Amino acid sequence: KRLILVGPPGSGKGTQSPIIKDEYCLCHLATGDMLRAAVAARTPLGVKAKEAMDKGELVSDDLVVGIIDEALKKPSCQKGFILDGFPRTVVQAEKLDEMLEKRGVKVDKVLNFAIDDAILEERITGRWIHPSSGRTYHTKFAPPKVPGIDDVTGEPLIQRKDDTAAVLKSRLEAFHRQTEPVIDYYSKKSIVANLHAEKPPTDVTAEVQKVLS
Ligand code: ADP
Ligand code: ADP
Ligand code: ADP
Repeated sequence: KRLILVGPPGSGKGTQSPIIKDEYCLCHLATGDMLRAAVAARTPLGVKAKEAMDKGELVSDDLVVGIIDEALKKPSCQKGFILDGFPRTVVQAEKLDEMLEKRGVKVDKVLNFAIDDAILEERITGRWIHPSSGRTYHTKFAPPKVPGIDDVTGEPLIQRKDDTAAVLKSRLEAFHRQTEPVIDYYSKKSIVANLHAEKPPTDVTAEVQKVLS
């Protein structure tokens, strides 16, 4: 399947992705993870992206479109993909359509992680991540067995620098202003499925499975 996950920061995209990936798709492309890796490696792309990311603003369309265009060439992405956090602007959505048209394929479904803003601060400020695998924990909702330690590898967990209440505010503004129009864009194509993203993770997984079955 070819899927897009859209939702504000903390809506649960990264939590549901591995489950969807294992069941339906071979490749999971998360532009946020790719950009953070580029920032950490101090690549030219990372250097360009860092300032916007630190402020909770979107990086330029050209930059992320380039990343996705490159990533979609991977053999593992030929049978299907999950785009997590892309497209985030209507321009990105239009560019994606062009890229897919060239490849003769189409997006099957857009999963909209619908959720009220009020819930997101607690989700974001409690988030802990295992950087190399992308595994996500939460101090209250999904605590690791040992605080600060990944269950699987025993390696340390980190908190994202932009996971503060202040930066969340900018990220939510960007979401409402620039990303919500993307949901309208796909609604016109009748491929949007709305999820109740405020529910517990297992309930959201069940909704996803119903939509995709
Ligand atoms: P996103 O990728 O959309 O930014 P995440 O999947 O990283 O969101 O989730 C944000 C935080 O909330 C994480 O700490 C995660 O463990 C937790 N979380 C994810 N889904 C739920 C849920 N349905 N209920 C409660 N907490 C959740
Ligand atoms: P979250 O998981 O909280 O929704 P992401 O990890 O997807 O956040 O994104 C982190 C940051 O990376 C964003 O605030 C933005 O600066 C940048 N970013 C990620 N994806 C895109 C995109 N498609 N377009 C522009 N900027 C992006
Ligand atoms: P810096 O202080 O160098 O800007 P950060 O404090 O933003 O770095 O993050 C610490 C490290 O963890 C960096 O190497 C960053 O790229 C990485 N990182 C943060 N969040 C994630 C994530 N969700 N996935 C992968 N790597 C991440």
